[in-house]
Amino acid sequence: MKPKILLYDIEVSRDIVAGYGPTYEFKVVKTIQHQQLMCFAYKWLGDKKVSYVSRHDFPTYKKFVQFLAYLQNEADIVIAHNANRFDNKMANRFFLKEGIPPPSPYKSIDTLQVARSKFKFQSNSLRALSDFLELGEKEKITYADLEDDFMTDEPSRKTLRLMKKYTQMDVVLLERIYLKLRPFISNHPNVADLAQSDHMCPKCQSYDVEKRGFIRTRSGQRQRYQCRGCSGWSSEATKKGNGRLVNA
Ligand SMILES: [Zn+2]
Repeated sequence: MKPKILLYDIEVSRDIVAGYGPTYEFKVVKTIQHQQLMCFAYKWLGDKKVSYVSRHDFPTYKKFVQFLAYLQNEADIVIAHNANRFDNKMANRFFLKEGIPPPSPYKSIDTLQVARSKFKFQSNSLRALSDFLELGEKEKITYADLEDDFMTDEPSRKTLRLMKKYTQMDVVLLERIYLKLRPFISNHPNVADLAQSDHMCPKCQSYDVEKRGFIRTRSGQRQRYQCRGCSGWSSEATKKGNGRLVNA
């Protein structure tokens, strides 16, 4: 079975708080409204369609949040920029708050962590990486400007349109960045294991892997491969060479 890989990006509102004091030492006395899920965009890797989901499209907030849980539930792997420290955790927080049970366990790929751990970029933000790698048009994003209107019951059509455009664009860029970084991801979830298939690249599911040297250890050597599809490196899991490839 082909693994289902979900690329997603959530937009979350600010906390609204009451308090007093000068800006630089403002004292929060009370939270009037906690952060909420505003909207998100998603795409299944390999599909052309980029979908957008807004809180305004659902009869209740809970049903909206439930839809995100449904998507994660369907996914074997989820990918987001800052997935491990933001998107996945924020999603869990919304599920818990709305009384939604956890989605089935998934593996996570965080393109921000990959950017930080494998490269030295000037900035690791999604937009900065897209500019640097020339993956998309430059656009000045002002989610903060859209938020106030978006969170009202009757936001303007312009706000809704721009929010949709920007959020979808982030997922398009996320996919491009992921595909660019993929061969460098050494701990990529093994998609060949998920597909239960031998002789398959553990990163991109291609069977077009080429023998390229060996991994040598004291107990012997294992065949090493490079994928002609994604350029990622892998090796036989055992020195006997049973065709199960793992990340090298
Ligand atoms: Zn590959």
